[in-house]
Amino acid sequence: MNTIYMDNNATTRVAPEVLEEMLPYFSDYYGNPSSMHTFGGNVERKIKEARADVAALLGAEPEEIIFTSCGTESDSTAIRAALESFPAKRHVITSRVEHPAVKNLSEYLSKNGYRATFVPVDSKGRLDLDYLYDHLSEDTAIISLMWANNETGVVFPVEEVAEVAAERDILFHTDAVQTVGKIPITLKQNNIDMLSLSGHKLHGPKGIGALYIRKGTRFSPFLIGGHQEGGRRGGTENVSSIIGLGRASRFVADHMDDENTRVKQLRDKLESELMRRIPNAFVNGDTKNRLPNTSSIAFEYVEGESILLMMDGLGICASSGSACTSGSLEPSHVLRAMGVPFTAAHGTIRFSLSVYNTEEEIDFVIDKLPPIIERLRSMSPFWKEAQQPA
Ligand code: PLP
Repeated sequence: MNTIYMDNNATTRVAPEVLEEMLPYFSDYYGNPSSMHTFGGNVERKIKEARADVAALLGAEPEEIIFTSCGTESDSTAIRAALESFPAKRHVITSRVEHPAVKNLSEYLSKNGYRATFVPVDSKGRLDLDYLYDHLSEDTAIISLMWANNETGVVFPVEEVAEVAAERDILFHTDAVQTVGKIPITLKQNNIDMLSLSGHKLHGPKGIGALYIRKGTRFSPFLIGGHQEGGRRGGTENVSSIIGLGRASRFVADHMDDENTRVKQLRDKLESELMRRIPNAFVNGDTKNRLPNTSSIAFEYVEGESILLMMDGLGICASSGSACTSGSLEPSHVLRAMGVPFTAAHGTIRFSLSVYNTEEEIDFVIDKLPPIIERLRSMSPFWKEAQQPA
């Protein structure tokens, strides 16, 4: 059975050219980049190249990039650095739909001496900007907003908010883990102070991330140790993964057009055909302002987990809009924040494509999913109830 992988917001395939570039740095070139000898120095040079590749993808300078272990570490580092750099300020602003890397940290901070504001979104997942601006204060150290949502793909106006933050002397961080490589970014042209990315979301390896820190931004390291990363993150470098992230940055830059044309068309075809063939189905989020690869579809009156299981039996990989917590299926905090009705949030499936997806794969899903939904609904008491005349 072939695997049809449509779960690229969870993780992506390591591109073969990325793997190829990484492999020699496990076996042949294993020197420590900090060593004085040429053997280590050659590795250091390669890291420098990778840093330049990441910077080029972001429209930034190489010195503005530090390597971390993942997107989560980059997010934590950015927010904690802001709080440590401005100890008199005790307030963090974020949104209600952030990834746990920011959401749970902000909740933790709010129980440990800080104040956190969680900005709401509307039914399409769009940020309530008035609420955000009304809650800015002298006490606000940092605003941290995701650039694009991992569940719905909805894009936030982060550049606009960063401009307001700069006028108010507030640091602005964006979690761009889902955005980098999917839509063009030029950090030289905006006021974003810090940006997080993660290797495994852009066809690089897992366990590597990066944090952009604008030149001149006050910063304080999370991992205090050696002089690596200009003293901004101690610890011997994860050499092969850094090299993989550098190569992956070039890979996604080269495929950005394909992502925004062909992949987007595949996503749109998948969505419109499923909508046409399946009653009581709708797309979650602002379809006008979304990542090109993401589609969050609610199939009312069915359980997302059952859909996933039946698709899994056909080799189709996607995600649901629920999280299995303590034995009960809770709709995701993102769908709840958007006010998606329970009966729809439960039946939500996220498809997230990549440049490796083909039209044949899309056609396969379009063909196989409608009978799956029909079958599950025939067993659903909620569906039967909904079919009763009012
Ligand atoms: N932020 C967003 C928006 C994500 O989607 C993810 C991963 O799913 C992360 C942060 C965490 O990244 P990592 O898995 O590299 O820690």
